Amino acid sequence: MAEVTAYIAIGANLGQAQHSVQQAMQALGQMPLTRLIHCSSLYQTAPIASETSPPILATGPDYINAVAAIVTGLTAPDLLLHLQALELAAGRERPYPDAPRTLDLDILLYGSAQMDLAQLVIPHPRMAQRAFVLVPLAEIAPWVVSAAQLAAVAHQAIEKLLSPTS
Ligand code: AMP
Repeated sequence: MAEVTAYIAIGANLGQAQHSVQQAMQALGQMPLTRLIHCSSLYQTAPIASETSPPILATGPDYINAVAAIVTGLTAPDLLLHLQALELAAGRERPYPDAPRTLDLDILLYGSAQMDLAQLVIPHPRMAQRAFVLVPLAEIAPWVVSAAQLAAVAHQAIEKLLSPTS
């Protein structure tokens, strides 16, 4: 069975967001055929609308964000299904785009795969626009984020809250 390293963006901005993100990290390592390899620090960011470029502020409380590295034998579509099950288990509803959410899990990278399926685009199409993705990703996998990409989002406010060991 081929195993792949994948990077998962984790975000939450409702309820006990910090707790939700930490729970999600543990839950990632409990998915079938999957090991949790590395977790970034937790970061706090203002919510931004996902479908716009440049990003604009959306409504709701600040987000807690992090990125996790996993090694998985799941296919990318199966991985997405498991992530959506974790979102649902965390009580996520999708009343409208960019609604505040108890848990958001996105596949950023899946090995070196590039795919453009109806339900799944990899690399994640908006990751390069988001400091809350690139900063924690660069913390745990600096070789996948360029200095130019980080510079392009340097104006977005992001605050480190907790290091992975805290
Ligand atoms: P969101 O509301 O931000 O969680 O977006 C979820 C939707 O994005 C789902 O319908 C997914 O099928 C789709 N999607 C496309 N590419 C990805 C990806 N790389 N990771 C997670 N969801 C994705």
